[in-house]
Amino acid sequence: MNVDSRSLSKVDIEVYNSIKKEEQRQNDHIELIASENFVSKAVLEAMGSCLTNKYAEGYPNARYYNGCENIDEIESLAIERAKVLFNAEHANVQPHSGSNANLAVFLACLNAGDTFMGMSLTAGGHLSHGAPFNVSGKIFNCVPYGLNAETELLDYDEIERLALKHKPKLIVAGGSAYSRFIDFKRFREIADKVNAKLMVDMAHIAGLVAAGVHPSPIPYADFVTTTTHKTLRGPRGGMILCKKEYAKIIDKAVFPCLQGGPLEHVIAAKAVMLKEAFSPEFKEYQKQVVKNAKVLGDELLKYGFKLVSGGTDNHLLLVDLTPFNANGRDVANLLHKANITCNKNGIPNEKQPLSITSGIRLGTPAVTTRGMKEEEMKQIASFIYELVKNGESSVDTVKAKVLNLVNKF
Ligand SMILES: *Cc1c(COP(=O)(O)O)cnc(C)c1O
Repeated sequence: MNVDSRSLSKVDIEVYNSIKKEEQRQNDHIELIASENFVSKAVLEAMGSCLTNKYAEGYPNARYYNGCENIDEIESLAIERAKVLFNAEHANVQPHSGSNANLAVFLACLNAGDTFMGMSLTAGGHLSHGAPFNVSGKIFNCVPYGLNAETELLDYDEIERLALKHKPKLIVAGGSAYSRFIDFKRFREIADKVNAKLMVDMAHIAGLVAAGVHPSPIPYADFVTTTTHKTLRGPRGGMILCKKEYAKIIDKAVFPCLQGGPLEHVIAAKAVMLKEAFSPEFKEYQKQVVKNAKVLGDELLKYGFKLVSGGTDNHLLLVDLTPFNANGRDVANLLHKANITCNKNGIPNEKQPLSITSGIRLGTPAVTTRGMKEEEMKQIASFIYELVKNGESSVDTVKAKVLNLVNKF
């Protein structure tokens, strides 16, 4: 074959160097972004394979191109594993992203202008749940719901009131910055009262659900969407699980309505991730993710930070910085200078603009993959406290401590 077989460093030194620097950055920073993780070598290998060369529009054994026999094996494996892992009747593993998975469900059960309900972005929902500047909010009429101002928990009575008033065709549960269990049964009851379908977006918690450390939405939801790259620890991508009765409309919504050719190299990596998710080590990992989040939260509380809703049931924490008179943007930037990575995040009753915010969101999936446990969480909490309390003057000392810690993992 006449393909260029030289390695990346020979063909494109600029991209090669940037990748190497990124590898270094991932190694020498404490990664606390709740939506990030580190995949296994096997997942990376599948993603970097020759499958990227293949067109496979359609579904296993019903393709528009020839030569899909090997692709069919791989995509069928991914589908079967997803169904077994989550106990779902049907799985579509083709969505290129979590946002696409959500849009596919909307396209399958809503017409332009139809009303649906989703958690508002400011309360911790995802932009693909009807934010006005997102396609989901532009095409469809989204009625957002939020948190109870006092408890900072989902306000199910208020969600029910809004549903009775607006009669949505679809209700979306799930978010990106909600640290508590979600009552899927209650959502089902609300949906049934107004004859709406229920979609649960478990992007953040899918790994916990797979391991049984978070209640599963599968028994209650008509559709469950997820990303595959967060707690699930697979390649960047999306996935839809649903009841058999919706299999056809979901498959049609993904292809040919929303997408063209599937990314089969990514689907292969999804299959590998799903295989890994059956292992006892994966269950242990997810348990440790939750334990670590609890310890990190408890320690931060001891130092005087506030946590939205008071704590966490899952892998993430929303830290309210107002007791320290600090804002999310400045604290996230300060932490970054000391090699701790997180993101600024709005809190309930946010007084600051979205570009500043009063909180930071922290998550434990990535540090737990590196092998860190309770002791390290205590250290990380002390680093954060030292930085927020003493500001710029503490950056050098804390950074040295961070490097010392990450070098052990
Ligand atoms: C991360 C996330 C998504 C979107 O995933 P992308 O792959 O970035 O499009 C969707 N929904 C929720 C709740 C998320 O947290």
